[in-house]
Amino acid sequence: MKIAVAGGGVAGSYFANLIKDAYEVAVFERQKCENFRAICAWGTSKHEMRRLAGRIGLNFDEYILHEGKEMIVKLPDEGEFSIKLKGLCTFNKKKFILDMHSRLKVYYGVDVKNAKLTNFDLIVDATGFHRALLPRIARDYYIPTVEYLVKYSSPPIEDFYLMPLTHLGGYLWYFPLSNNLAHVGVGDYFNRHREALNEFITRYPGEVIDIVGRPVRIAPPHLCNPIVSDGVVGLGESIGTVHPVIGEGIIPGMQCAELLARSVEEGVEQYPIKVLKSFSVFYTIFQFIRKVHNSSFNYLRDFRLLLSPYIYMKLREDRFGMKIRLKDWLRIVESYRKGRTATKI
Ligand SMILES: Cc1cc2nc3c(=O)[nH]c(=O)nc-3n(C[C@H](O)[C@H](O)[C@H](O)COP(=O)(O)OP(=O)(O)OC[C@H]3O[C@@H](n4cnc5c(N)ncnc54)[C@H](O)[C@@H]3O)c2cc1C
Repeated sequence: MKIAVAGGGVAGSYFANLIKDAYEVAVFERQKCENFRAICAWGTSKHEMRRLAGRIGLNFDEYILHEGKEMIVKLPDEGEFSIKLKGLCTFNKKKFILDMHSRLKVYYGVDVKNAKLTNFDLIVDATGFHRALLPRIARDYYIPTVEYLVKYSSPPIEDFYLMPLTHLGGYLWYFPLSNNLAHVGVGDYFNRHREALNEFITRYPGEVIDIVGRPVRIAPPHLCNPIVSDGVVGLGESIGTVHPVIGEGIIPGMQCAELLARSVEEGVEQYPIKVLKSFSVFYTIFQFIRKVHNSSFNYLRDFRLLLSPYIYMKLREDRFGMKIRLKDWLRIVESYRKGRTATKI
């Protein structure tokens, strides 16, 4: 069986590595190898990443840049609290992906929209937000983001730092890397991301080395239909495997790749059902965040939805790399209820 993977991001590259010994697989990546970028804050949890990387013979610990101990959460109402971390880290995602590429046949500089991917038995759309080969999503939902790579002479913050924006539109993140570098970015459904990031950089100036930005799809797989169409199978963010509240897409994308790799062996007919089942919690969490965004959220009526992100993460503290407490979650949500609209840093 010959398989083409469109998009050599984390999900497509991982999938190709999982199946490369059993099938003939080729990866088509739009970016050039020498300029390859992994646009992301590079935050993840080491426990699950160790397992996933181990499956393809990589040692995840070699990629870790910073291991967190405590994350400060600064609330819009000026209050703050800290979350104990137990595995949350940043890692060199670009090197991780390029190391996965080094074991594959990768065609760089190929835009699959213009390429003729003939002679393949299966084509995988792993082009992330672009979803270059699958039909458009009827009602997409995404968060615009902007992120700076900043070099500090002396880092203003030692560890992970997060500032949720009002109305739970998104948050500002400061993720330390190594050598006094940090990824500082903001994603916000209500488009306040540039303003919020500029305020932060004015307060904590450093040398901005790189500026990137792209939307993150938070529409869950249930809304990313079709998942399979005309010989093309979706994988990763192209079919919405991103946590709708925290925007985490690395581990879910790789877990989706595991599902697809198993499905290739068993037949891809069942793959959409498996994806929907496996990521059904994202649909519930998405319903919560959408109600908050469009101001139809009601504490009493929607209490079950409110608890869904908390329960999901509480039951998987190692997987998310942090201690999850209900009172922290409620404090974040509370800042929404107070109805403040201005972003304050
Ligand atoms: C600013 C930002 C910060 C983030 N931070 C985090 C984080 O800290 N932790 C986390 O878990 N998640 C984070 N995410 C989400 C996470 O990065 C993504 O959900 C995840 O990378 C999705 O993986 P993917 O392989 O499905 O898609 P992508 O990583 O987007 O990879 C898709 C690949 O396809 C290629 N491609 C696109 N179009 C074409 C085409 N037409 N032809 C050929 N190739 C194409 C792209 O160049 C890319 O290499 C962040 C997202 C953003 C935008």
